[in-house]
Amino acid sequence: MTHFFTSADCLDHLVAPGHPERPERLAFLLSELQSSSLWAELIHHDAREAELDVIARVHDHALLAELEAASPERDLVAFSADNHMSPGTLVAARRAVGAVLDAIDVVFATDDRRAFCAVRPPGHHAEEDAAMGFCFYNSIGIGADAALRRDDVERVAVLDFDVHHGNGTVDLFRDRPEVLVCSSFQHPHYPNRLHDVPGEHLVYSPLAAGTASDSFRQTIERDWLPALRRHDPDLILVSAGFDAHAADPLADINLDEDDYSWITELIIAKAADHANGRIVSVLEGGYDLSALARSVAAHLEALAT
Ligand SMILES: [Zn+2]
Repeated sequence: MTHFFTSADCLDHLVAPGHPERPERLAFLLSELQSSSLWAELIHHDAREAELDVIARVHDHALLAELEAASPERDLVAFSADNHMSPGTLVAARRAVGAVLDAIDVVFATDDRRAFCAVRPPGHHAEEDAAMGFCFYNSIGIGADAALRRDDVERVAVLDFDVHHGNGTVDLFRDRPEVLVCSSFQHPHYPNRLHDVPGEHLVYSPLAAGTASDSFRQTIERDWLPALRRHDPDLILVSAGFDAHAADPLADINLDEDDYSWITELIIAKAADHANGRIVSVLEGGYDLSALARSVAAHLEALAT
């Protein structure tokens, strides 16, 4: 069975009207999953709030203080051009981190070695000292750092198939070769922060606008499989954004649910080869409500098989 983490508090991060990273993303996803047969096949967990000192292991103290100071008692404030804060924002963001931390513990503690975190706000754009791109804390990066503190983990892989480059995760691990970061993304496109020349442990898979299934799959097999063989990770983390779906309003890549089933099965096979089957997947982007719900269902169905 697959572990499933979420929190009602993740619905309380509010944004201005018209903002794509809205609570309805998660509300609609949960209501669709609840009415499917998949729901009964999941092991349900409430995400806890991560402690600030754990978050501070990867994020700059100044950024954390700035976020606390900006957190409003009522209404909304614009923290940056694309990051809005409501009174519930930081609790939601800490629950998203807590979900990943607990999911990592549970895939090591039980024979059910796959977990999915249905959380928001997303995290993969958050850099050491910058909250950006709808992201506040880099949940997956904090998770990778926590996993590496375990005695039974020497190397971690982060596989990021969100349509946007996982610049935050790259930023956190640019000098830590024990974390392999593979990111596929539309290019050129937001966030345009490819200031690194990728090293062996940073694998970039840029995709031209209009890329569809065949070319996406060939790119992933060409770039990610040799890197995973070389890295031999003890745990695979997945930045699971579903905004490369053809229906997504924020990008121009033409994947569908079958592609998300395909990449999930590929990740399961690689986790079996290297990581004792251990996978923790975390929701990142995906902004068409129906496409997001169908894509997550495809991902979860593959994980639950
Ligand atoms: Zn995205």
